[in-house]
Amino acid sequence: MKIARNKVASVHYVLHVELNGERVVADQSDLEQPLQYLHGAGGLLPLFEQNIEGLQKGDTFSFEIKAADGYGTRDDSAVVPVPIKSFYDENGQVDDEMVKVGNVLPMVDEDGNQMQAIVLEVNEDHVIMDFNHPLADRDLFFSGSVADVREATADEIAHGHVHGPGGHHH
Ligand code: ZN
Repeated sequence: MKIARNKVASVHYVLHVELNGERVVADQSDLEQPLQYLHGAGGLLPLFEQNIEGLQKGDTFSFEIKAADGYGTRDDSAVVPVPIKSFYDENGQVDDEMVKVGNVLPMVDEDGNQMQAIVLEVNEDHVIMDFNHPLADRDLFFSGSVADVREATADEIAHGHVHGPGGHHH
């Protein structure tokens, strides 16, 4: 069976990016538990799905996705000061174990969208946060193999995501 729309594919993958001229691993699937996704549901980078479409169990792949087609290019306006008050707990204190340089924090925008941002700087009034995706500006080098392809169930297609072996999900 080939990877196509409304099939559930399981893939082992490794993502490399270039850092100072060398390729380093930025992300990879769990060896025991390959990435499982519903093809065509928009869960993954569109070009990732496009590149492995038509492959079947046992096939290997290796391809590059340019930064602009991956996680986008860095946007300096996505580096913003957030008032320190936003990080106050119920006692008006800032948890400096959590709010410290280099930490990735879950944030919510005005519209209630969840996003992640990296703390660049903490000062008295503001925390400077970088909302750029950590892989922005990076060309992505994917390689891997197809572990399995199966038909999606009607429920999975209706929900737009993969259900576990017991057919339930959270
Ligand atoms: Zn569901």
